[in-house]
Amino acid sequence: MNTSRTTNGEQIPILVEIISEEEMAFLEAALSSAHPRFSPHRSRPNSLSSQPYTPKSHARTLRSSSPTPPQPDIEDSTAATVSGSPLLRFRSRRALAVTDITATEWCEKQMEFVLLHGRPKRTEAMVAGSVRHAELEEEVVEKVEIQIKSIEESWALKFMNFIVGANQLLFEGLTRELPVIGVVEDTWMIGIIDELQMPVGEISLNPCLIDTKTRYRATLPSEAQKRNARLQLMCYKYLWDTLVANNFPTEHFFNHFGLNPQYPLSEDIRLYTSSLGFEAKTFEEVVFYFRNTCRLLSPCHERLLLRYELQSDRSILEEYEFSFDAGWFKNEIQQCLKFWRGEREASYVSKTEQWKCQFCKFTAMCPRALASNNNAE
Ligand code: SF4
Repeated sequence: MNTSRTTNGEQIPILVEIISEEEMAFLEAALSSAHPRFSPHRSRPNSLSSQPYTPKSHARTLRSSSPTPPQPDIEDSTAATVSGSPLLRFRSRRALAVTDITATEWCEKQMEFVLLHGRPKRTEAMVAGSVRHAELEEEVVEKVEIQIKSIEESWALKFMNFIVGANQLLFEGLTRELPVIGVVEDTWMIGIIDELQMPVGEISLNPCLIDTKTRYRATLPSEAQKRNARLQLMCYKYLWDTLVANNFPTEHFFNHFGLNPQYPLSEDIRLYTSSLGFEAKTFEEVVFYFRNTCRLLSPCHERLLLRYELQSDRSILEEYEFSFDAGWFKNEIQQCLKFWRGEREASYVSKTEQWKCQFCKFTAMCPRALASNNNAE
């Protein structure tokens, strides 16, 4: 087990959970000009403006190092032979990811192809973006690997990562890669917030939610890309605000995912929780501390910030600030969920956004793309 520094310089063990690729938007595979998030030009915002940020210390996040994942994606591997809605077939044992929502908003048919055939191979630029992503995360986080033996322990690590990140936000003013979970329109959803910062020089305790996207070329994002990113950030805000409103439905959570609240945590995890200042012997106790942490927090600022940076020199191309729009958000989520719940067939991109097909890996099997090609011939 590795160690992490606390604010008083003490070395404590930390556990790190490897973030699954579901949090890497497959959507980005379709955008040759868009690459995974993060850049070194982070800021501690005062009304969301940019100011250099110097990390004070490293917080700890948790990485599972189980040689065999405790929950292989059985659902996906048998997808073609199982009946039911996409939600039942592909996400019944895990929450819908925020990136599932954004990918669906991008093109439902493409999302369907991904579910049935797997994600497209990651491009070189995406791999480079992931490396950069890891570098930035390491500015504020040191990871420690821990073996997990069950899905309960996997969830426990997520909750502990949240506790650690929330404390880092409260005491240091910034955290990154914070997992959030909740129910949106009756559907369990999970996501990882890129960055949260406490406002500087303000009395407000509402953290600012920021997402940085790096771009390969020095071009501004299209409206379709911005709309998609707006939806992503609004999902995070909704999940965060619901958590801090102390609305986490614990019993529903245990029941929905078939989890044993009394699951005894491993010695490693118990030692780790102890180092954080609380004693948890069972999974349920970790959830209890998670809920207590939520009570200390305030809702996100209404204004959300997207930052677009050039990958080559990390200069800022655009900072785009917008407000949470509850009506628009609800409508977008409901539209996406109609596909996931099997209430209608997957739709294609609109005529005005058919340019997206140029970047799609599934054109050879997509009826819309094939029809367009035939018409062009
Ligand atoms: S080719 Fe176009 S319409 Fe078809 S799945 Fe890809 S993006 Fe969607």
